[in-house]
Amino acid sequence: ASESPTVIVIGAGMSGISAAKTLHEGGIHDILILEATPRIGGRLKKTQFSGLTVELGANWLFGGGPVPNPIRDMAKKLKLRTSLNYYENITSNTYKQEGGLYPSKLVEEIDKVATARDDFCAKFSEQLSAKQKDVDVSILSAQRILKQEPKTPLEMVIDFYHNDYEDAEPPKVTSLKHTYPRNEMMDHGEDLYFVADPRGFEIIPQYLAKQFLSSLTSDPRLKLNKVVREIIYSRNGVIVKTEDGCTYNSKYVILSVSVGVLQSDLIEFQPTLPLWKRIAITDFSMTIYTKIFVKFPYKFWPTGPGTEFFLYTHVRRGYYPLWQHLENEYPGSNILFVTVTADESRRIEQLPDEEIEAEIMEILKKLFGDNIPKPESILVPRWGLDKFYKGSYSNWPDNYSKKRKDHLAYPVGPVYFTGEHTNDRYLGYATGAYFAGIDTANDLIEYIKNKSCKGFNRNRWH
Ligand code: FAD
Repeated sequence: ASESPTVIVIGAGMSGISAAKTLHEGGIHDILILEATPRIGGRLKKTQFSGLTVELGANWLFGGGPVPNPIRDMAKKLKLRTSLNYYENITSNTYKQEGGLYPSKLVEEIDKVATARDDFCAKFSEQLSAKQKDVDVSILSAQRILKQEPKTPLEMVIDFYHNDYEDAEPPKVTSLKHTYPRNEMMDHGEDLYFVADPRGFEIIPQYLAKQFLSSLTSDPRLKLNKVVREIIYSRNGVIVKTEDGCTYNSKYVILSVSVGVLQSDLIEFQPTLPLWKRIAITDFSMTIYTKIFVKFPYKFWPTGPGTEFFLYTHVRRGYYPLWQHLENEYPGSNILFVTVTADESRRIEQLPDEEIEAEIMEILKKLFGDNIPKPESILVPRWGLDKFYKGSYSNWPDNYSKKRKDHLAYPVGPVYFTGEHTNDRYLGYATGAYFAGIDTANDLIEYIKNKSCKGFNRNRWH
């Protein structure tokens, strides 16, 4: 790599790597990738937990839809070990707050209502898009229009399963128009493949990187452990400064950090980003989705067909609501896996592991009796507290216009922005990050080659 590359890509997650690969394929070989952590992958991140490889970040791939999913295609090519999840029986496995199962007929009825409500949301969203271009509402508002606001703990946990489990935020704050219909599932399918492979989900961005880098550790175009702290930009180009005192010059930058990082003060911009850009950043939503793994010495929960998932109902919406045993993914592992989101995630991220374990054990004792064993270990990822992520993925808030969303992706002079949050169709997902990198790199290639750009005014510096 030259001392003054044409493009510096900041971040080696899915979007940064797919942007760099696209630049390379577009004839721009003079690039430098600066990544804060010691690894490629970003929010695709594996770890070891009680002798197994589990995913701290993204876990599921979508399949079975009418549109090819490039991530799933790569996963197939790499023979990534996945397990198809079956949610159908969840209505037979819904527990009351104080223990004991709800009659499955009752839960099925409520789930049917929730499915009909989802269908209404999709239709209503299309109507709004066709007739009222500037109007958006929250998903909750659409539920109210239908006179079906979930109110009881049972209705709320089913609603969580239908919405928060995907968006990581409640319907109250989520855009109807930009969430329904759910494009990732409509296009790529509703078959959910759980990644459980010793190489981790991160093998996908690594595989992409290997197509243009000679090595993932020693290619001079990739510098790991480089925390960018300052971006100085002008019509002459960009100066990027890292925490270890290094300075890099380039003509352009592609910045792939999460919208959570953009909202924080990790990176200082000189001059300050224009107001339209800052508003687009600060008004968007970075959610937290927490996947807690708990390892026990033996199983005390039901196993076998139709038991994979269970719901826990509580008057407090989102209180340890969705559980999965990992018997299919990791046979004999004796691991329970519970998902928490949004405000509950923010709350538990502040707690020590022992307190989280105590809350979990109180619930499990209600469901399975006082004689259950103590966990051998617990794993609680804290994405919201991690300064290089500041959350799990983005969510489109209600009342956040498409125009503002476009501003989130627009470049400011020579500084281009990418990342899952800049994609409209699959934002939040690994596929969104993959396509975002391609789109941003193509915009930049177009500008470098033809000094023109499609769809946006590149010269909006102020
Ligand atoms: P990132 O992966 O965040 O990449 C940005 C990179 O920039 C990172 O490597 C970061 O270290 C680096 N960086 C940050 N600050 C600096 C700095 N100052 N200097 C240099 N480098 C910096 N998606 C799915 O498709 N399916 C799922 O099941 C799913 N579940 C998820 C569950 C969780 C808990 C999380 C966290 C995410 C999940 N996602 C899922 C979302 C998916 O992981 C992301 O959308 C995608 O990986 C984001 O890629 P990105 O390139 O946009 O951002």
